[in-house]
Amino acid sequence: MNLTNFKFEKDSDGVVTLTWDMPGKPMNVLDAQLMDELDAIVDHVSKDETIKGVVLTSGKDAFCAGADLTMMEGAGKQFADAVKARGEEAAMKEFMDQAGRGSKVFRRIETCGKPWAAAVNGVALGGGFEITLACHYRVLADNAKTQVGLPEVKVGLFPGAGGTQRIPRLMATPDALQFLFKGDPWKPAKAKQMNLVHEVAPEGEIVAKAKAWIKGGGKAVAPWDEKNFKTPSGKIFSPMGMMIWPPANAIYRKETFDNYPAVKAILKCVYEGLQLPVDQALQVETRYFAQIMRSKEAAAMIRSLFLSMGELNKGARRPKGEPKTALKKIGVIGAGFMGAGIAYVTALAGADVVLIDRDQAAADKGKAHSDALISARVAKGRAKEADKTALLSRIKASADYNDLSGCDLVVEAVFEDRGVKAETTKKAQAVLGPDVVFASNTSTLPITSLASEAIKPENFIGIHFFSPVDKMLLVEIIMGEKTGDKALATALDFVRLIKKTPIVVNDTRGFYANRCVGRYIAEGHLMLMEGVPPAMIENVARMAGMPVGPLSLNDEVAIDLSWRVVQATKKDLGEQAVDPAQEELIRTMVVDQERFGRKNGKGFYDYPQGGKKKLWPGLTALVGKQLDPDTIDVAELKQRFLAVQAVEAARTIAEGVVTDPREADVGSILGFGFAPFTGGTISYIDFMGTKAFVELCDRLTAKYGDRFVPPPLLRDMAKTGQTFYGKFGGKAKAA
Ligand code: NAD
Repeated sequence: MNLTNFKFEKDSDGVVTLTWDMPGKPMNVLDAQLMDELDAIVDHVSKDETIKGVVLTSGKDAFCAGADLTMMEGAGKQFADAVKARGEEAAMKEFMDQAGRGSKVFRRIETCGKPWAAAVNGVALGGGFEITLACHYRVLADNAKTQVGLPEVKVGLFPGAGGTQRIPRLMATPDALQFLFKGDPWKPAKAKQMNLVHEVAPEGEIVAKAKAWIKGGGKAVAPWDEKNFKTPSGKIFSPMGMMIWPPANAIYRKETFDNYPAVKAILKCVYEGLQLPVDQALQVETRYFAQIMRSKEAAAMIRSLFLSMGELNKGARRPKGEPKTALKKIGVIGAGFMGAGIAYVTALAGADVVLIDRDQAAADKGKAHSDALISARVAKGRAKEADKTALLSRIKASADYNDLSGCDLVVEAVFEDRGVKAETTKKAQAVLGPDVVFASNTSTLPITSLASEAIKPENFIGIHFFSPVDKMLLVEIIMGEKTGDKALATALDFVRLIKKTPIVVNDTRGFYANRCVGRYIAEGHLMLMEGVPPAMIENVARMAGMPVGPLSLNDEVAIDLSWRVVQATKKDLGEQAVDPAQEELIRTMVVDQERFGRKNGKGFYDYPQGGKKKLWPGLTALVGKQLDPDTIDVAELKQRFLAVQAVEAARTIAEGVVTDPREADVGSILGFGFAPFTGGTISYIDFMGTKAFVELCDRLTAKYGDRFVPPPLLRDMAKTGQTFYGKFGGKAKAA
């Protein structure tokens, strides 16, 4: 056998150790060449009588991270091209063969007549876990890095190489569905407890344990190929089945609002597959898999949530030629709500932090936030007491700016006040000089104007975090007019250090994320003023794919803050910049009713102590009218929520604020939860088609007003049907 990706070694007892180690790749992945080699290995193993069995293991740090998703992203287009070239029938056959390749090869492993055992060191995810499920025995390394899981659903796919069939044959259907729906990986102990693996052993012993199982007479038959096999939850059409399936459908609807075809496909695969012998069940799975691979949701999610996110994380926007910065000590000024969070994530990443506030007590209070967060992790078993001690020892809380001495970067998160920020910059630069990069976490003040207070504005940049800092994955980096490459490289290196995803935007009011999400909240306000029932606003927003309704979200960020933003917008941009209906609503809520949101227990919702929040019953009276829900076009409400944000995103590209469609997409999903199944604000437009989107905007403008007017750039693109990704590739330019 001529093998490139595996090392094949037979010991004196006839047990083969098959070490998977793809040359030139940091991780093992599943691709077409690998399948060819596996096919050849199975042929060889089943024919060679001196071979007793096979132990499959990895020569890398991890076992396998799954299929090569770069290939999958273009599946829909490949299929369309094949239809054009060879006709529908031939194209479909080719596509089904391709979609079912992994499943067939894995089934050959399972039925080759020789026992296979997987010795799993490190992560085994997606197809990488499915191949082990086709082995007759699984041993996992008992260490922190080893995890098994089927995360395909997170990028709009599902496990199509046997995962939806073998998992519900190994554990009870409700557990299996949860595992498949969520896609979260499990650690060895949990995987063992849930019957997904047979043994957990120290890393150095896994191959020996797997061999011992084979030598001890390990059976080359999967449980489901045994004569009297019964699935853990019994038959579908049984009293037990009737307890499982109706709620399973309801849970699917509740969690997805039917927006995720891959999740629905899982449900169908399990439901149909469990009624069939495994070979036919695998064919059912392949059929659905071929359909989902071609779905626009899979293409959009793979592009934004896997490929683009990966590229941004790896520094797609880092200026070439800037040397890597050594960020060992970071200054954080302002130990309030945001500063305390920034200090925590920085110390968690292993850097030293100097956390400064106006007095020692305020600085200590900021550090106490880190204590609370790491203590919670220790309590849940996610960190050790020693980790907590180490983390806290890295944070120096102080009121003395001189302690900033030696910092490689300073991030300021003091009050949102130009004067206070200017004073902070001066005091820090008096200690550090002009060459250390200084960043502001401002959410509303232009970076260009704050930079004018720095000795060297080229070393001044915006690093805009989202709250809560420890949970939110996105960081917006804002370039002032004079911000230079060194500042950008330093900011990107910092974001990488703390394991968040950066987008780089140019200076403008609200930057990118807040501009779009502001439109979302405003649309909720305007619907309320039209008389759409509040509960309908909240529910339809979630049906459209948003994680929380606009009224809930406004309560979280505070309605009095919206009131201040409305005032500031009018002052800066003129009366016409704010819709009078929205202004009246916010004024009444804040000034007349003193309803500020969750922070004072009264907003669009009431927050009873110890109880569940409920929409404030006074809202309808305050608005003065309520439409009959049966007369409201739900599909149009959904379109309004998404279109109003997408058209704002298109404006940011037209204005040169966002210069890369990937950043608009990734930023919208990670920053404000824009309907992930669309691939983000710009993919929402591209997949609909710019022409159709402009028509939608024109219709909504005629009915609801100018906030839907598309920018001229988009109108031009629509004329020729051009897409954002088509026009700008990975990297857009200012129009
Ligand atoms: P905060 O009021 O909770 O914290 C501000 C802290 O700065 C306080 O602890 C205060 O004592 C300290 N401070 C004030 N003047 C100081 C000085 N001269 N030297 C040292 N410390 C000083 O405010 P916050 O919500 O943490 O916001 C801080 C910044 O982050 C603002 O610019 C805000 O716009 C921005 N921001 C806030 C959010 C959010 O959700 N709250 C999100 C993104 C960005």
